[in-house]
Amino acid sequence: IMSAATIHFDNSYARLPDGFFAPVDPTPVEAPRLIAFNRPLAEALGLDADALERHGAAYFSGNVPLPGSLPLAMAYAGHQFGQFVPRLGDGRAILIGEVIDRAGKRRDIQLKGAGQTPYSRRGDGRAALGPVLREYIISEAMHALGIPTTRALAAVTTGQPVYRDRVLPGAVFTRVAASHIRVGTFQFFAARGEIDNLRILADHVIDRHYPELKNAEKPYLALLDAVAERQASLIAKWLGVGFIHGVMNTDNMTISGETIDFGPCAFMDRYDPRTVYSSIDQHGRYAFGNQPGIGQWNIARLAEALLPILDENEDKAVEAANAAVSRFMDRFQVHWKSVIRAKLGLGDEERESDQDLIRDLLVTLYEQKADYTLAFRRLADAAENESADAALGALLEDQAALDPWLAAWRERLSQDATKATARATAMRMVNPAFIPRNHKVDEALTAAVDHRDFSLFEALNDVLSRPYEDQPTFAAYAQPPKPGEEITATFC
Ligand code: AMP
Ligand code: MG
Ligand code: MG
Repeated sequence: IMSAATIHFDNSYARLPDGFFAPVDPTPVEAPRLIAFNRPLAEALGLDADALERHGAAYFSGNVPLPGSLPLAMAYAGHQFGQFVPRLGDGRAILIGEVIDRAGKRRDIQLKGAGQTPYSRRGDGRAALGPVLREYIISEAMHALGIPTTRALAAVTTGQPVYRDRVLPGAVFTRVAASHIRVGTFQFFAARGEIDNLRILADHVIDRHYPELKNAEKPYLALLDAVAERQASLIAKWLGVGFIHGVMNTDNMTISGETIDFGPCAFMDRYDPRTVYSSIDQHGRYAFGNQPGIGQWNIARLAEALLPILDENEDKAVEAANAAVSRFMDRFQVHWKSVIRAKLGLGDEERESDQDLIRDLLVTLYEQKADYTLAFRRLADAAENESADAALGALLEDQAALDPWLAAWRERLSQDATKATARATAMRMVNPAFIPRNHKVDEALTAAVDHRDFSLFEALNDVLSRPYEDQPTFAAYAQPPKPGEEITATFC
């Protein structure tokens, strides 16, 4: 008999009415093996890390239920590439319960790839090892970059094959989230005309994520604005590090404001707003530079879903919803401005010419096919010492292309009182040296999938846990792909 891990679950979603979810147990797997365990996260969650690690294969595969868990699959709808699907739901993810973490925050623990559910449609309910490791690497990298995101608690291999376009090793991923409630969760009830449930969901979300709105005059309208605000802030942060989500369907946009669902996501190397990696995004709907516009589109779908509860007067509800949606771009601009200003080392005090300075830099990086991450990291060095200009120039096709811009930038910086070293230090705290480069992620996944060699996966996680530090030993991880190393497409 295994010594059980003591976890104090408090499953608030399971207490919501029938129709919000389907109770369902994970389907056991044949030969589970724990291949990754996030001990610091387990400890932050207040979990029994020792017991979880010792029995991780059994618990994180779903083979042995965690005492106190109440496994369920959540119902949701969603717009997938613009097409509304009224019934999606957790087809391969099972929420095992909620815990209150050390900071007093409620967190979901979910097993992804734990078997079929009533929402599986034709899917097998399983996940392949490659995508599981990709989500592990990228969600933890996002966290280390300071971007709100779901987290990776564990990964296990199942000892069973999954059948995609080829036979792949199966795996289960344990995800932690502020909640798994999405725009699509609201759409699910709105589409069914279940207005009471819509209100119950909104109240649950306010309690859980936006308690300060409880006493607002119009709490549901305030909720719409608050979600728009968090998403505007989130997407600005994505753009700051070159992140391309890849599948910004409304079922993949959280209400909490965390990044979720790391399918064909990727980080841009060369700066180009049109960049798309996802093999299923043929028209570039979710291209790097389209993300703010898609954010607004998704918020419009949330507004539509909330319409029946925004105001008793239908015209007023529509008017309020429209106003909230049109505010999204202003919100985004505020956040983006603060992200990009910090990247350039510009202080809080704005000058009229700053906008041109920002635009001219981005245009030059684009024209010169410069690596987005390295260019800004070298810019931080250049803020400290002009002798670093050469290293920045070396990233461009024409080494001298930025010279006039650098002169204008220095002239502008000289108007701020901040000392050069302090400015450079601040810039290094927002301009990462390390991002999960697609070719490095691919290399780590290939070694794991083809040879069960997890050493590259572990090394990559280690480097990416300190993205803002120069780590000279790991210089190779900072480099863009060499010719022939580029990854042009990512898959879910
Ligand atoms: P995604 O593209 O990851 O956002 O997933 C879209 C929908 O497909 C969700 O309802 C998932 O639960 C479902 N889904 C994805 N993969 C599988 C699978 N292997 N088995 C069952 N359902 C799946
Ligand atoms: Mg999804
Ligand atoms: Mg997915």
